[in-house]
Amino acid sequence: MVMLHCCIVSDVPVCSTMFKGRLRRPVAEENPPYIIATGIDQQLYAPRQQPHTHSKTRESIHANMSESSDHVIQRAMQTIAEFEETYKHLHRTPELSWQEHGTAAFITEQLQKTNTRGGDEDFKITTGIGGTGVVGILHNGPGKKVLLRAELDALPLKEETGLPYSSQKSGRDEHTGSEIPAMHACGHDMHMTSLLCAARALSDRRDLWSGTLIVLFQPSEENGAGAQAMVDDGLYDAKRFAVPIPDAVLAGHTMPMRAGKVASRIGVVNSAVQSVQATIFGRGGHGARPQNAIDPVVIMSSIVMKLQTIVSREIAPQESAVVTVGSVHAGTAENIISDRAVMKINIRALSTDALRRAHEAVVRIIEGECFTFRCPQPPEIKSISSFPLLENHETITRSVVDAFGRHFKDNYYNEPYASLGAEDLSNLAVEGSQCCFWNIGCIDHDIWDAAEKENRLETVAGMPTVTLLKWRVELR
Ligand code: ZN
Repeated sequence: MVMLHCCIVSDVPVCSTMFKGRLRRPVAEENPPYIIATGIDQQLYAPRQQPHTHSKTRESIHANMSESSDHVIQRAMQTIAEFEETYKHLHRTPELSWQEHGTAAFITEQLQKTNTRGGDEDFKITTGIGGTGVVGILHNGPGKKVLLRAELDALPLKEETGLPYSSQKSGRDEHTGSEIPAMHACGHDMHMTSLLCAARALSDRRDLWSGTLIVLFQPSEENGAGAQAMVDDGLYDAKRFAVPIPDAVLAGHTMPMRAGKVASRIGVVNSAVQSVQATIFGRGGHGARPQNAIDPVVIMSSIVMKLQTIVSREIAPQESAVVTVGSVHAGTAENIISDRAVMKINIRALSTDALRRAHEAVVRIIEGECFTFRCPQPPEIKSISSFPLLENHETITRSVVDAFGRHFKDNYYNEPYASLGAEDLSNLAVEGSQCCFWNIGCIDHDIWDAAEKENRLETVAGMPTVTLLKWRVELR
């Protein structure tokens, strides 16, 4: 078994250094280089040359491939300053889901810079897949097809970090059309930078590997729709975009872990998710005469409490699921009984069966409560978004985590539990493609170590990235 790490190199996570309001120079002495290494088995990328073919022991082949990956990493490190600028540009110019036109154009331009040889020796670049999706394909001799993915979209959040390269863009609310803030608070700017860097390094050192590299930049990951939109638009359709069906679909994501740490696991890594919006119809009235009204706020409150019995009473204790009511809205004044209430509910589970059961229970409880409280009409319940279960396939993941272990040593660890987070990566894995997804630490060492010393890791590990950013800025 031969292992080639195709690599993406950056400083200690770029997004962690932005907590400090600046980017440190890469390859800083005190911080080991941060590398997202995609461990790729010999069955995927084959080595160009095998100096030790006469003695192909597992160890000798691993040594050869580790050496190859080191060369790719070295190449990436030589270009790192340029990619700092790429990162800053992307952070400065975030675009919301389905609106990533400028980002896609920038990515295309950057990929084109990689094309210096001409003809079939260059990345074949295709744009506008499933909206703004961009794909580059590099055929480099016989071998397996490996797809690496990054996400184009940002979140509707106002950046308050005060960084010199803070967000300068806003977006449009897709429902109201009103202007809303945008920020790369999920780390997708870093993923894009890393993938561009990997594409360049792997292209430059194509003498070290053989196979087909597919770099894919997808729209709208935040709402779980972009990957499927690319597939539905004909990503793999021979008569449409004709991207070869990959043997492996690989991606990483920044996580609130100590910078430099990399983690993954075989099996389920992320939950399946279904989000719904429910509108409850009551009868409006005056607070002085509740007997003439049907109060949707009371009905909604009862629903919120009953929903919390689903996980405790309807899901087996051995399974994992969570039901969150993240948004409730009704009424305009304290003395007016509203005629309707709208609530948004997020359901997550680590199996599709548990998700289905929890979803059915949510619908049943809402409908049941509306009946019990004599609502004048049944509730309207509609799906807002959904994410598929993300499962790391055993063969490819074992290869990747073995490579991670050899390269990152103590900085790699097997994730003990699946996350209730969500990803739409697995929608790109069709017809037997194998998925592997991993997490990358993005919290500065000093923040993490201080929290660990004071026994309050939950204060940083549980934070969304954006909260961390704000907290860090306030701290300083
Ligand atoms: Zn994300």
